[in-house]
Amino acid sequence: MAEKVERVLKGIAASPGIAIGAATILGDTLSTLDIREKNIGPSLVASEIEKLEKALEETRNQILKLKKGMKASLKNEAAIFDAHLLIVDDQVLIKEVKDQINNGKSADFSFYSIIKRYISAIAGMPDPYIRERAVDIKDVASRVLSNLTGVQKRSLSNITGQRIIFAHDLTPSDTAEIDSENLQAFVVKAGSRTSHTAILARSMKIPAIVGVQEDLLTIVKDEDLVIVDGFTGSLIINPTAETQKIYAVKEEKNEKYYADLIKESTLRPETIDGFCIQLAANIEHQEDVKEAIKYGAAGVGLFRTEYMYLNQDKLPDEEKQYNVYREITANLNNQPMIVRTLDVGGDKLSKILSVPHEPNPFLGLRAIRLCLATPELIKTQMRAILRASAYGDIKIMFPMITCAEELDQLLELLETCKEELKAKKLPLNEDIETGIMIETPSAALIANTLAAKVDFFSIGTNDLVQYTMAVDRSNERVAYLYQPSHPAILSLIQQVVKAARDNRIWVSVCGEMASDPRYTPILVGMGVHELSMGPVSLGIIRRIIRRIKMHEAEKIAEYAINCRTAAEALEISETFLNDIAPDIIDITTGGL
Ligand code: PEP
Ligand code: MG
Repeated sequence: MAEKVERVLKGIAASPGIAIGAATILGDTLSTLDIREKNIGPSLVASEIEKLEKALEETRNQILKLKKGMKASLKNEAAIFDAHLLIVDDQVLIKEVKDQINNGKSADFSFYSIIKRYISAIAGMPDPYIRERAVDIKDVASRVLSNLTGVQKRSLSNITGQRIIFAHDLTPSDTAEIDSENLQAFVVKAGSRTSHTAILARSMKIPAIVGVQEDLLTIVKDEDLVIVDGFTGSLIINPTAETQKIYAVKEEKNEKYYADLIKESTLRPETIDGFCIQLAANIEHQEDVKEAIKYGAAGVGLFRTEYMYLNQDKLPDEEKQYNVYREITANLNNQPMIVRTLDVGGDKLSKILSVPHEPNPFLGLRAIRLCLATPELIKTQMRAILRASAYGDIKIMFPMITCAEELDQLLELLETCKEELKAKKLPLNEDIETGIMIETPSAALIANTLAAKVDFFSIGTNDLVQYTMAVDRSNERVAYLYQPSHPAILSLIQQVVKAARDNRIWVSVCGEMASDPRYTPILVGMGVHELSMGPVSLGIIRRIIRRIKMHEAEKIAEYAINCRTAAEALEISETFLNDIAPDIIDITTGGL
């Protein structure tokens, strides 16, 4: 057998760490299948038609089995499988495929090319309801093609053993479904550093690479030995023995470095000249609190509550949410927790919240827009947060604010909820601190107006960069334009900090910029009070803060804001960082 040749592909480093192991390819969408045009001679026509019929029959049986297996409580949802059966039995479609086979093309190519034409025709329809049917057709088509080609669909929830997953894309719901015990690393063709899938990987401490531009899923084969370098974004396929040795050493050094950082987790995050920056944790799930405490967080700066709504069969009710908030706060030893209200939409889609298909989900009915359209949804959550606030330092925060009216409506709903609870004589903190995320340019520009009504700001740089630069945060093709140090972003942040100061409220940064050491000198120099991030990054950021002098950081921030380009601003900050913390540059760029 020919010896396998080492090959290196580059992607975006999405979650630090090194993993060495076997590849598992998830052929879960139609777009991942590599079906090429194949001509067949007349003698093969009958057997190709037989293959097609067998694949359709197998698909029919699989769908019937799935339908039978649905819980009685999900009877309505089971109706979707009737629609799937109609697709497998569609005589017009089947005739067209058979005609193409009769014209000398293979069964898989015939089915693939015709179904793709159907899908794009439906996806282009003006009626959103009809457009959504494209998803069902894709689902059935993937099944038929799996049966035709023998390339099996794999479900994430039943992956067993230690695996490195390769996929075209993973949604945040997919990622949340994976049992992290079995997941060594993942590599996806789509996405960027601030897509929620990448954020989840960091919080699960799973090395990840996203945005691999090359034809990833045809280059990597199932069971190939691969190395995922989550520091640099390098993917090494079939590494030589020598490369494996180099990476084993890197992995060991990396583990030791992070273990040493944990030993510093009780040190105060203050600059050499005594300015303390609060370091808090971003969490997605209740269980993440353990990690937050382990890495020395001074509370939770962002609880992304939408994960309670993903991968669920029904909406979390008031009681369930109240219990979650109460339990988390009990584990925080009097430290604060900021509960952000539901932020679904964009790349976080929930099956149970029936948001209509939107051409631009990041600009659509996301977060508070959905909540204000269905007030009971957010009132349930507000009541749960308010009730839990009687038992700990809980603050409430609203995402995606763009104008003062939205804030007014939300504050009014919050007051109504307080009254409802008081009428029921349920305990609550009536003076609960209320804050907003500043993650749209409009909110940043009217920060002074908004500050008058709230107790704190939290700058969501992930979205602030996306909306200011007009660049989809999860699109790898425009990732080069995703520039947190762009002069426009830095001046918006500066403006928000000034508005907070002028109105005597505090300001945090909870976007990924807060966890990236390259921006720490700038953010500290601008005067933010708190940085909130995935727990694993806390050690590195604490170490940097403790090596900074405030007056130097202020100068760096001032220089950076006045730069012409993002690259110039970044260079200034990196040069400074290299002087005060060369070890951190080494670890974060994988150069150990
Ligand atoms: C942000 O936008 O920076 C943020 C923290 O919120 P999310 O990443 O959940 O959109
Ligand atoms: Mg956001």
